[in-house]
Amino acid sequence: MNADEREALRLDDTDPLPTLREAFHVPPAPGGTYAESAYFAGNSLGLQPKSTARRVNEELEDWARLGVEGHTRGRRPWVDYHEHAREPLARLVGALPHEVVAMNSLTVNLHLMMASFYRPAGDRTRIVIEDTAFPSDSYAVQSQAVHHGLDPAHTVVRLRPRPGEENLRTDDILDHLEREGDRVALLLLGGVNYLNGQLMDMRAITKAGRAAGAAVGWDLAHAVGNVPLRLHDWDVDFAAWCSYKYLNSGPGAVAGCFVHERHVRDPEVPRLSGWWGTDPATRFRMAPDIAPPASADAWQLSNPPILALAPVLASLEIFDRVGMAALRAKSERLTAYLAARLAAVPGLRVVTPADPAARGCQLSIRVPDAAALAGRLATEAGVLADTREPDVVRLAPVPLYSTFHDCHRAGRALAAALDHRPGG
Ligand SMILES: *Cc1c(COP(=O)(O)O)cnc(C)c1O
Repeated sequence: MNADEREALRLDDTDPLPTLREAFHVPPAPGGTYAESAYFAGNSLGLQPKSTARRVNEELEDWARLGVEGHTRGRRPWVDYHEHAREPLARLVGALPHEVVAMNSLTVNLHLMMASFYRPAGDRTRIVIEDTAFPSDSYAVQSQAVHHGLDPAHTVVRLRPRPGEENLRTDDILDHLEREGDRVALLLLGGVNYLNGQLMDMRAITKAGRAAGAAVGWDLAHAVGNVPLRLHDWDVDFAAWCSYKYLNSGPGAVAGCFVHERHVRDPEVPRLSGWWGTDPATRFRMAPDIAPPASADAWQLSNPPILALAPVLASLEIFDRVGMAALRAKSERLTAYLAARLAAVPGLRVVTPADPAARGCQLSIRVPDAAALAGRLATEAGVLADTREPDVVRLAPVPLYSTFHDCHRAGRALAAALDHRPGG
């Protein structure tokens, strides 16, 4: 064991927030000298909390024991099961409880939100996204334009970094809104970019977007559970996120949604509706006309998939136990440590902002043939990273379960793999 490795172990032993790694199932390493993998793909699929199986099993048992009666007589009756996610979700995203709801999946929620908040009229038709938007978001906004009879090529504006730069500058976004704002109907950006890991200045951008008269929505897939959020105070119109990345709720987990309270009370906001969006007190009168509550629940369509929502509750309990402030503080320490390990590898180019205030925990590196490199990291060192074609490797040290020692392993494995590449 060399001095660097000893130092990593010392940091793990002395960190103010001890790791919660034992609360998670860490996959065995596919190769290398350690039994457990160094898991850096929590930005793609978070690890399974050990408490999840019990929560899912309780619902399976109630279903077996009670049948349909589980709706009202289960341990957590299914009719208002989603209510259990409300308070913890509100704490996580900085919302009032009636501004959030757990439902559907992320892209579905983006569409439901746009059905309400993308209201092209006159010259104000544009949807502004980032050029590196996640493909699903691109497809979603293009299809919204088509849905309104507009040409997506002229409707969707893609913001690009300056030539030679990797990240968007906040000032350039604000300038765009200043110049073109009266033609923007919707600004829809990622809070943390999925590809390069840039954390946006959501407060400043939301303020400028709303001042320009646009609706402002945030895709928080890579932000929720990663960075502190204050959606209510920032005056965001809407936001949506998935729960299988930093929220560790399992593949395809039930997603979440935020609608600012000024909209939940506004009867003029149009909505796509279903029976779970009517007032629960009168839902089972089965009336033909909807009576939506003044909350984000009004956007619910269907009764939720209980077996998929149980893991969300198990995960939110962990976030509540630790709190986002402590988690973010540890995240900054871990990511700074990983950044230093990566900086020590000759020729490695990190495309994530160096400023801790402009990134979450993910660091993205640009290397030729990223997939082959990630393959070697896994088989030779048990370091599990995630790649995006053709040349990005993403490493996310997740503060709940990643360790300084994991970061040390990643730095050492990258140095070894790059050293042995053809051409050096
Ligand atoms: C992960 C991710 C998605 C995935 O969409 P689903 O509807 O959950 O399949 C969409 N947008 C962004 C920005 C993402 O990071």
